[in-house]
Amino acid sequence: MAFFRRKKDIPQGLWMKCPSCGQMQFTKAVEDNLSVCPSCDFHLKVNGPTRLAQLLDEGSIDRFAEELEPVDVLGFQDEGGSYGEKLAKSRQKAGVTEAVSVARGTLDGHPVTVAAMDFSFRGGSMGVVVGERIAQAADDAFARKVPLIVVATSGGARMQEGALSLMQMAKTSAVLARLREAGLPYIAILADPCTGGVSASFAALGDVTLAEPAALIGFAGPRVIQNTIRTQLPEGFQRSEFLLQKGYIDRIVHRRDMKKDVGMLLDYLGPKRPAEAEEPAPATGTDG
Ligand SMILES: [Zn+2]
Repeated sequence: MAFFRRKKDIPQGLWMKCPSCGQMQFTKAVEDNLSVCPSCDFHLKVNGPTRLAQLLDEGSIDRFAEELEPVDVLGFQDEGGSYGEKLAKSRQKAGVTEAVSVARGTLDGHPVTVAAMDFSFRGGSMGVVVGERIAQAADDAFARKVPLIVVATSGGARMQEGALSLMQMAKTSAVLARLREAGLPYIAILADPCTGGVSASFAALGDVTLAEPAALIGFAGPRVIQNTIRTQLPEGFQRSEFLLQKGYIDRIVHRRDMKKDVGMLLDYLGPKRPAEAEEPAPATGTDG
């Protein structure tokens, strides 16, 4: 499974250097721009709670499944320390308890359930609790008969949880099948990077699949593929724009337009907003 290690994107300081164009930016200006570089439009990584706030209507966010936290079932240990120690460090660094945050809320007035992944927590890797929180989000959408939206960003399976991590691929796919049978829309939003077991399960199962610009999306990363098949890969391989051309994703959406575009999709696909559902049917023509 691919696993990425990169420098933290946003340092705590007043100024930050854009990892794409290299320009110094006022951190507050970048954050106010939804963590998109004002100079080059590079989409920086954002954490789960920030995603929820970017998508859901203000004051509507009701997070749940927070009480579920990962445990070191296998007693995993390597030269970097125990899995338990790593989890404690990740909690402190990322400010969340797992690599996905889930919430009920409204998006442009549409009742929805959203799960937003977080690359800053152990590379957005999928362990038992990530799988369970996503399953609970899907169950919540099923129970309330509302659409499910998942923002997927991940380096792959959580290797410290072994086969238990891989089982989450089947589990998340099964709960989505139930939504599909019930005719409830599922929108997948893929953010950089979206790889490994996540890309091979729930991230690939959207009724509509959106992606942020220039996101790396694929199962194995380009370096692994290049080293395996010993062939030069085409320019832009596995990036959103390349995958749009190949028909793997339906639309590339700039972060500033994401809420509006998802709202538009829900107008087409989703149940009506509660206010609209209560309105009386419009009067028929009177000219006959
Ligand atoms: Zn930039």
